[in-house]
Amino acid sequence: MKQMLKLAVSTLLVTLVTTATAQVFNTTRSPKGDKEWPVVKEGVTVKVSPHVYAIPSESVPGVPNVGIIVGSKATMIIDPGMGRLSGEAVAREMAKVSKNTEVYVVTTHLHPEHTTGELAFPQAKIIRAAAEQKDIDESGMYWVNIFSKRSPERAEILKGATFRTADEIFEREKTVDLGGVRVRMLYVGPAHTLGDTAFYIEEDRVLFPGDLAMKEIFPAFAMPQSSMRSWLTSLEMLERLKPAHVIGSHGDLADGSILSANHELLSTLQTRTLALKREGKTAEATGKLLVEEFKTKYPAWDQPVRVISAVDAIYKENP
Ligand SMILES: [Zn+2]
Repeated sequence: MKQMLKLAVSTLLVTLVTTATAQVFNTTRSPKGDKEWPVVKEGVTVKVSPHVYAIPSESVPGVPNVGIIVGSKATMIIDPGMGRLSGEAVAREMAKVSKNTEVYVVTTHLHPEHTTGELAFPQAKIIRAAAEQKDIDESGMYWVNIFSKRSPERAEILKGATFRTADEIFEREKTVDLGGVRVRMLYVGPAHTLGDTAFYIEEDRVLFPGDLAMKEIFPAFAMPQSSMRSWLTSLEMLERLKPAHVIGSHGDLADGSILSANHELLSTLQTRTLALKREGKTAEATGKLLVEEFKTKYPAWDQPVRVISAVDAIYKENP
């Protein structure tokens, strides 16, 4: 009996020490779990192709899939995550795969979980599409406040968050040579936002389409400027690139098939919306009806409630 008690006490001690050690080392992790602590996770970086690495979001809300593109002379970070803590985690992951001192930080759109990690890269060059810059100027800090109000943890992560001044602005397209690998930056908005930007790594045939194509997640029409018409046109343009890997800004890493899957879903949604509109239904009624219809038609897809804002955008575009 005495022996068993001794064993139990020592097991308890080991458990306590292990837990305490884990907390000391994992200073950027919340004791309450990933869902409440949307900071980019370390130690999970995967190699996608010869020059491209990704830090998967593991579908944690508020965490994007992060890209790290490594050339012989420079490195590019795509979407450094939310807040300085995320950016610092990304910088440590980058250091494991690249010794380059020349660093670019680029983002798929203005939302804080894609952009505000850039604060951890004070020396990096920031390049943005003119339309994304416009989004940031008009509503960047508005979105930081909205995100901060969602939970005390997000407020903590976003404390002091601002946007860095861009070093370079481009209109429709810009190619950056990282040494042995080129990244084409393509303006693809207005879709999820006004300023959506996609990144195509030509030599490796890897595409980062932002929120325009995610694996089995309904697309979000998040801004007043969001447009179904230009979303479809941009997806068609991205499909013509024939990428081998497609890394949406959230959700699982995927291949080229998610571009056509998203295109099919959106064009079906457009056709159904316009048919109901012709019958004289209001946008509100059509939205309610189609949420249910698309839940049944696309049961594997997350966030079907987003159908409502898509319907609104289609009504606005087709007065
Ligand atoms: Zn977004």
